[in-house]
Amino acid sequence: MIKAVRIKLLPNNKQRTKFFQFAGCSRFAYNWALDKQMANFREGRKLQSDYDLRKEFTVLRNSGEKPWLLDVSNNVTKQAIKDLCIAYKNFFRKQKQNGYVKYSPKKLAHLARIGKTPTVYDMNGHPKFRSRKNEDFRFYQDNVKIQFTRTHVKFEQIADSKRKNRKKANWIRLAEKGRIPVGVKYINPRISFDGKNWWLGVGFVVKYKLKPMRGLKFVRKQPMHPYTKGVGIDLGVKDLAIVSDETTVKNINKTKTVRKLKKKRRRLQRQVSRKYQMNKKGDSYCKTSNIIKAEKQLLRINHRLTNIRTNHVHQATRAIIDRKPRFVCLEDLNVQGMMKNKHLSEKVQEQKIYEFRRQIEYKAHWAKISVIIADRWYPSSKTCIECGHVKKDLKLSDRTYVCPVCGNVIDRDFQAALNLKRYGEAELSKSAS
Ligand SMILES: [Zn+2]
Repeated sequence: MIKAVRIKLLPNNKQRTKFFQFAGCSRFAYNWALDKQMANFREGRKLQSDYDLRKEFTVLRNSGEKPWLLDVSNNVTKQAIKDLCIAYKNFFRKQKQNGYVKYSPKKLAHLARIGKTPTVYDMNGHPKFRSRKNEDFRFYQDNVKIQFTRTHVKFEQIADSKRKNRKKANWIRLAEKGRIPVGVKYINPRISFDGKNWWLGVGFVVKYKLKPMRGLKFVRKQPMHPYTKGVGIDLGVKDLAIVSDETTVKNINKTKTVRKLKKKRRRLQRQVSRKYQMNKKGDSYCKTSNIIKAEKQLLRINHRLTNIRTNHVHQATRAIIDRKPRFVCLEDLNVQGMMKNKHLSEKVQEQKIYEFRRQIEYKAHWAKISVIIADRWYPSSKTCIECGHVKKDLKLSDRTYVCPVCGNVIDRDFQAALNLKRYGEAELSKSAS
């Protein structure tokens, strides 16, 4: 199994400067290749292969026309070109899919307004130029050459000098110790900048082998731990999750801290747009240093909000898994369908419901706990736990379930969790027989 980790880097000033340089070269190579391919397309030629482009780029690199390219490891630019070719492949693959919409109606309307005819570049999913303006700072490191210790990671060509005592600069400090195993095979190391910090994302192989079975995921024959009963989890918008063992995961967005931050953010957003309006010159907007300052502040708030939310989900899922249930049963939420609903979509996004499910799945996998995803049409909240009656006309606003057959009165979400637990038990015994 592949485990992926995202870890914060603590570069010193020299290393930070180098990172920006690397990211710049990566962006340059990507845009250079995109420009080439678009020219090929315009003039009716076949698109160049990844190999061809890279060969041509090496000629450019060695020509000395752009001397700064020589300061950066070849692997950085190589991967950028590869990435572009993959982006193109994905673009063509998507076009072949059923029901593919070539141009988004919004885009077409916008182009009509400014009097431009749509080009290939405006098509849905067409690779875009990477830009400094969008804070696009990221690059790749070679997965064979990268090295780790408990505390540091080694990148290529950060040090200017090849002298031995200067090579220390190649080692960048990690913000967390010992999270990445030393001396294993690493997969796809990527470094990115989020506006404040540099991060390293890397995968490595972990020895677990669990086969998914029939609707069930990750089933083991004999559990290794003294498991308690299984749990059913109902995910929702009011509370993030209701667990059948009578615990609730609260909605973090209703806490004072988050509400205050959101208020602050709203104010800042208004401030920024007002500032843009004030400094408008004719038709073009311009960035003053005050705008840059405010935008930085805004970015910080956004980071903080995301961190609070992600942390909350991590803690909640960890707590559930640490109780060592025999299995976890979740409903198959139609997140995409929920995103279409204007009012729900913001709440679903804020709650990170999808992230919750993803985390439960992989954490359960690590702990060797089975995960069962209930059928999308399984009426978990409409079924009476006592008698099994399915109440078809249950509305979203009905918070309490009153059974017309047996008179059972119960909290709607808690009942859903109990039903999911029962569903999980049934599925497990089915697969055991
Ligand atoms: Zn009933």
